[in-house]
Amino acid sequence: MPVKGKVFKACRRCRALVSRDAIECPICGSRDFSDEWEGVVIIIDPERSEIAKMLGIEKPGRYAIKVA
Ligand SMILES: [Zn+2]
Repeated sequence: MPVKGKVFKACRRCRALVSRDAIECPICGSRDFSDEWEGVVIIIDPERSEIAKMLGIEKPGRYAIKVA
């Protein structure tokens, strides 16, 4: 049964949201993912984004705010 709503899983190392069938994180190369995450933030320009600085995000992309 497909899980409704969660089409993404979150990288535990950098919090990037990737498709559930991805093998490794396109941002940091980690293979450690979590299905338990909350909130989505889309970073377009990490150098100018306060949220990106707060979360320690250095590359543009889609990230989870909280990863369990
Ligand atoms: Zn990652």
